Amino acid sequence: MVKRCIVCNEAEAKYMIKDTSDYYCKECALENFSDLQLLITVEEVAQQLKEFLKKKTERLEKEEQESKEKSSEKDLNEQDNQDREN
Ligand SMILES: [Zn+2]
Repeated sequence: MVKRCIVCNEAEAKYMIKDTSDYYCKECALENFSDLQLLITVEEVAQQLKEFLKKKTERLEKEEQESKEKSSEKDLNEQDNQDREN
């Protein structure tokens, strides 16, 4: 879905204010803000989101791996205890 500029409501929004949902096209952004450094590009946001999701997925995979390792360790310990009892 293409974001529209909230000022002219026509042009495709390429910029947004960080941590808000205010989107601007380049022209309106320049008109409202003398410095485009205040704004981040929509591509940048998409990129950050992608990175965030990637890290999250990696972390989940790692946690899953670790919990698997832990449970196999536990199995070994239980076996150990049984051996001792016998
Ligand atoms: Zn605009």
